[in-house]
Amino acid sequence: MTTIVAIDGPSGVGKSTVSKLVARALNLPHIDTGAMYRAIGLAALRNNIDVRDADKLEQLAGNAQIEFLPGDPPRVLLDGDDITGLIRTPEISMAASHVSAIPAVRRVLVRLQQALGRKHGGVLEGRDIGTKVFPETPHKFFLTARAEVRARRRYDELISRGENVDFNAVLAESVKRDEQDSTRADSPLMYDESYKVIDTSDLTISEVVARIVAAIS
Ligand code: C5P
Repeated sequence: MTTIVAIDGPSGVGKSTVSKLVARALNLPHIDTGAMYRAIGLAALRNNIDVRDADKLEQLAGNAQIEFLPGDPPRVLLDGDDITGLIRTPEISMAASHVSAIPAVRRVLVRLQQALGRKHGGVLEGRDIGTKVFPETPHKFFLTARAEVRARRRYDELISRGENVDFNAVLAESVKRDEQDSTRADSPLMYDESYKVIDTSDLTISEVVARIVAAIS
């Protein structure tokens, strides 16, 4: 039996850092499903496809070759091209949120996520891992944090990466994206009673990791 750990939640709750460390502690692959939606968002912009054009995006998602190369950080390849450094901008965040609302795009990516997870198990981070991708796993965690805390984390992360961003713009983008992700018809961001909810606002990364690892072992 492979172990699947689902870590869902909105942007800026520390999902990526926490998931990576939980994966390391449990010796499981770390699968960042948001990177897949970002890859499709980037592909849409590169091909001048409207991020709301469902037909064209379905075709794009069906033909795009998305690969993950393990490592620190893991590399994301789109049609053989390493796009790891290109998909973390606010523009691609928004494009990812738009394309992720299209059911055909979700179908293709969910299948890919299930195939990857079934191979060696994994710590999967996203929005719908415990509700749609691996609903049968007993290990589901939903991370939350206050909106300003989340925006501050995103802002610090972007600044440390050398992006030139304004705090209020990051806060507005984060609120808008979470609202889009929570209100879409297909697989909205949500949790139910099968999840353990962790408010990370006043916890350190290692405290969050320790709670998750303790709940699994
Ligand atoms: O997690 P990250 O911020 O990289 O995700 C980018 C976007 O991809 C999210 O805002 C969301 O719209 C979408 N996403 C999703 N389902 C997932 C992971 C990400 O809809 N499992």
